[in-house]
Amino acid sequence: MKTKVIEDYLDYLFPNPECELIYHTDYELLIAVVLSAQSTDKRVNTVMPIILDKYPTLNDLKEADLSDLETIVRPVGSQHKKAAYIKNIATILVDKYNSIVPRDRDKLIELSGVGRKTANVFLSEYYNEPAIAVDTHVERVSKRLGLANKNDDVLKIENKLMKKFSKDKWAKLHLQLVLFGRYHCKAIKPECSNCRLIDICKEKKKNI
Ligand code: SF4
Repeated sequence: MKTKVIEDYLDYLFPNPECELIYHTDYELLIAVVLSAQSTDKRVNTVMPIILDKYPTLNDLKEADLSDLETIVRPVGSQHKKAAYIKNIATILVDKYNSIVPRDRDKLIELSGVGRKTANVFLSEYYNEPAIAVDTHVERVSKRLGLANKNDDVLKIENKLMKKFSKDKWAKLHLQLVLFGRYHCKAIKPECSNCRLIDICKEKKKNI
């Protein structure tokens, strides 16, 4: 069965997959995930310590000067939007949630800059809740492997993945698909000649 072949290969490549964002608390993870949109974990990991050094608490971040925050956030791109998002998130967390990130997808999605993907990453990473966040890597790999169709949107892909893989595997599978897309099945020049999924892949001929 195709899903079993994929699962086995991902387990072989990434037996203990880990999130590459560095964080210590719930809100650090949430903010890091928000900053990672259209950026890289590596860049986020260089920016987060600067933010936390200047604004060590959520209260400090709530009171941050927006233009100072924009300057710090600039390396991850979209600094106007992202600085406003994280200041706003800090404000809501302090004022409404006693400085604790809610463990609730609907409440998370109400926060600035937090969509379903970000909420799923947070819940699966911080609480190990069953969720599959479909980011650009998960989307690309799923389509190449025929787990989703070419025109499927991210919600459709998420639903298809949830149907095809057992619930206890979702959080791990998300991380494995991200790492597989990041380091093997890359957007440009994927490493098809070394890939054991080549026989079930829809894109192999284009890339070898
Ligand atoms: Fe990705 Fe190539 Fe493997 Fe297909 S054969 S899954 S495109 S690395």
